[in-house]
Amino acid sequence: MKAKTLHQVAEATLPTEHGSFDLVLFRSDEPAAHPGLSNEHLALVMGDVAQKRGVPVRVHSECLTSEVFGSLKCDCKQQLEQAQLAIAERGAGVIIYLRQEGRGIGLANKLRAYALQEQGADTVEANEMLHLPVDAREYDVAAAMLRQLGVESVELMTNNPDKIEGLRKNGVVIEKRIPVLVQANRHSKQYLDVKRRRMRHEIPSSPRSEPIPDPDSVEPPQAVND
Ligand SMILES: [Zn+2]
Repeated sequence: MKAKTLHQVAEATLPTEHGSFDLVLFRSDEPAAHPGLSNEHLALVMGDVAQKRGVPVRVHSECLTSEVFGSLKCDCKQQLEQAQLAIAERGAGVIIYLRQEGRGIGLANKLRAYALQEQGADTVEANEMLHLPVDAREYDVAAAMLRQLGVESVELMTNNPDKIEGLRKNGVVIEKRIPVLVQANRHSKQYLDVKRRRMRHEIPSSPRSEPIPDPDSVEPPQAVND
């Protein structure tokens, strides 16, 4: 796979609820995979990560529906916040935020797939009905960003074995995996089940024992996704 040329375009301090990060914007020379996607990607960096090993890293793909509108269909927003919290606790780490909405199919196709899911298709079937790949995400950009930040090796926050494989193929040294466990709700439960059964995500299927905060919106706890 040929390496994409990435330029570090801008950088600023971003105070957040979970501590102060440096937000670094990278731009790829190549056009995005299709017009609905961006060629600008972000790194949210805390602490000193250059020339460091075992840096906590989350490689996170944009999910406008949950992160902006609070959609309950997936748990991307919680995973992102959990990663910020975990990094703040450790005092250093990186969130690579890739603008590849809907596992890389773009926002319009993601909404079309949601409409098909309303008619009974699961997330994999919906993409197949639209003649789209189930997961079109690419990790070469994430690998290049980590290289440019000088990160030598990572502890990767993920449940997704394909992500580990994709990053390793692109030269990222992964010392270990940190699971990202998020509680399912009644809207996301089926989606997470499909990810576990059909997309090999390492999601515990046995209920965890925490109390259920909102009986109306939360299924017996389990879950996680990526
Ligand atoms: Zn999502």
